[in-house]
Amino acid sequence: MSSSSPFPKATIEGYPRIGANRELKRALESYWAGRIDADTFRSTTHALRIDNYNHLRDLGLTEDYAIAADVAYYDQVLETALTVGLIPGGTDLDEEFALARGNDTRVPLEMTKWFDTNYHYLVPEIAAGQDIAPAAERIVRIFEEAKEAGHTVRPFLVGPVTLIALSKPAEWSLLPSLIDAYATVLAALKDAGAEWVQLAEPALVADLSTPDAELAQHLREAYTTLLGAENRPAVYLTTPYGATREALPVLAELAPEALHVDLAPWTLDQDADYPQRVAKAIPAETHLVAGLVDGRNVWAANLRERTEVLEAVAAGRDAVSVSTSTSLQHVPHTLKAEKNLPVDVATWLSFADEKVAEIQALVAGPEAAEEAFAQSDRAVRTRAESEKIHNAGVEKRVQALPEGAVQRQPEFSARQAAQREALGLPTLPTTTIGSFPQTPEIRKARADHKAGELDDAAYQEALRTEIKNVIELQEEIGVDVLVHGEAERNDMVQYFAELLDGFVVTENGWVQSYGSRCTRPPIVVGDVSRAAAMTVEWAKYAQSLSDKPVKGMLTGPVTILAWSFKRDDVPLAVSADQIALALADEVRDLENAGIKVIQIDEPALRELLPLRADERAAYLDWAVRAFRLVALEAQPATQIHTHLCYSEFGQIIDAVAALDADVTSIEAARSKMELLEDLDESFHSEIGPGVWDIHSPRVPSQEEIAGLLRAALENVPTERLWVNPDCGLKTRGYAEVEPSLRNLVAARDEVVAGLK
Ligand code: GLN
Ligand code: ZN
Repeated sequence: MSSSSPFPKATIEGYPRIGANRELKRALESYWAGRIDADTFRSTTHALRIDNYNHLRDLGLTEDYAIAADVAYYDQVLETALTVGLIPGGTDLDEEFALARGNDTRVPLEMTKWFDTNYHYLVPEIAAGQDIAPAAERIVRIFEEAKEAGHTVRPFLVGPVTLIALSKPAEWSLLPSLIDAYATVLAALKDAGAEWVQLAEPALVADLSTPDAELAQHLREAYTTLLGAENRPAVYLTTPYGATREALPVLAELAPEALHVDLAPWTLDQDADYPQRVAKAIPAETHLVAGLVDGRNVWAANLRERTEVLEAVAAGRDAVSVSTSTSLQHVPHTLKAEKNLPVDVATWLSFADEKVAEIQALVAGPEAAEEAFAQSDRAVRTRAESEKIHNAGVEKRVQALPEGAVQRQPEFSARQAAQREALGLPTLPTTTIGSFPQTPEIRKARADHKAGELDDAAYQEALRTEIKNVIELQEEIGVDVLVHGEAERNDMVQYFAELLDGFVVTENGWVQSYGSRCTRPPIVVGDVSRAAAMTVEWAKYAQSLSDKPVKGMLTGPVTILAWSFKRDDVPLAVSADQIALALADEVRDLENAGIKVIQIDEPALRELLPLRADERAAYLDWAVRAFRLVALEAQPATQIHTHLCYSEFGQIIDAVAALDADVTSIEAARSKMELLEDLDESFHSEIGPGVWDIHSPRVPSQEEIAGLLRAALENVPTERLWVNPDCGLKTRGYAEVEPSLRNLVAARDEVVAGLK
């Protein structure tokens, strides 16, 4: 490798791809719907990328290679896998989207959470001995198009160790040929004039399926070869999402030209001496890049405290660069798009663009950036003192709680008997997970209401009409436990956050969840409490329309927390307890309104699971406790349901059992009921393994559903089995929902008839 230009002093690990006005989302959806052709799609997304580069330069990232070109149409893992050829498909757009979304002939790749974030990546399916044919032109083009627009950007790839660690299965025998492919891609970049390349290796901070020591060995093997290649750009190896442990000495030994470490407050909470360990371990020939600015939370950096961390990691070095701890893809674009935040709260926050400014202030230092530091001091002080943060009543109520595990009384079998009597349900009862399709009419009514064009009364009336339709449909089809359909909720976490004190919500704080899907995570700013009942009115109305039980529908404390930006001034467990207490009040009000079945959704239980194995037990303890607090005072005859999805349950199945719900519905259709094989006697609740994959528009046949039910009955006794879809129906249309639900009820009838 020949000498290269110096690593930039100020940089970021990545920038939101979706566009300040969600341009990428619109382009994707227009292309998929056939409204624009491939050329228009390419030119639109090209313009978006260049706009982002221009914007970042205007924000001050002017040095060569300061801007990470972490671009992707759908997903960064898919992008890298296609570039290095771990997945064949090369450069064909439709092929790429078929991998992501499926088509008539292929099912989509599985999608799962990217580390402990709410971003989902596509899981490459790989096999020993497979071909690996790189398509280097993908990344070369990205570098060149930027160059043509006057930018020297830093090409980005997920690194080889992480790429295999995240694939299914983690087929390490492919590593040598994969490294060859990376070497080819790196050489092509070098030939195109790129002097730096970023290789992201977040797998090094997590306990994935490959044990740490083995991972460190793969790291050594991969980078000894890659760094030994002659014709390549300088390598910037990055380790976002936490602290490296066993990998750190290997990184030191490998000595890439530049190394990024994650020094976010959240990371140092777990690993306080990480800056010192890094400073000591990493030799001077490796340029250090301090990931000081939190890339995944929205709090303004405490610049003085961050400067101390910078000094600790810089000990004795000439120069250390400053970056974000992770890509900024997990935070919204800019606070400038928020007009309705309380003024004080706004000064405590920092989105992607504001974080770029924080990096520059840290590079400049307290003297040159005096004003920024003073502003940071003020924000730290006003936040610590604010009444928006501290609610004495809530803090007192949490302190009065018993410590440790709490237990609903009486125990499950006594409750089960009381519920059987109260509910009188048939064998293999049918239900749904909560939401029904969000029709264009409902979306329009909500938008009009928000815009002030539809008054409260008219909006309420529209919701009532919708609820009535949903109840009538379920009655007509013959579902046993009904739902009101959640028409009033656009996003469930957003819905609760808007009603709870202690949260703020944004207007434009969109963050990519996967592909074209974005969410607007609320922000937990302070102590959480409930001002008034949040769901009772709708549940009560729905129940008034039917003699069958209608489920009250709540989102659980862990999920509300997981899908929000979290406080950084108290442990997560404290916020979880506070949210749980607010929800417990809601449970009581629902019971008083005559609701006999209450579902507390916890689809994100798995998501907050710490990346490090030794931190998991403590997390599961507080997560389970928070869930149990919600149901703690429920009457024995009130049937508490929970629902989980998108997870690999293996690791947390004991915690799911420990939730002590009366009925657990769980995603299972795609995996063909596999998870039921892992249940042991500690899993006592009744269970509804999903028999209809609602993530796809396909209508499952009666036969197929009956087959899944029979498979389930091999592991679950008849008295404990429920019949339900995998998840809520909100993203589906009635054209699929109606026939699918009919098939579901008919399949249940068929299977029950066969039991006699
Ligand atoms: N009750 C919610 C719904 O049906 C559950 C959503 C979820 O699990 N993600 O939409
Ligand atoms: Zn779900």
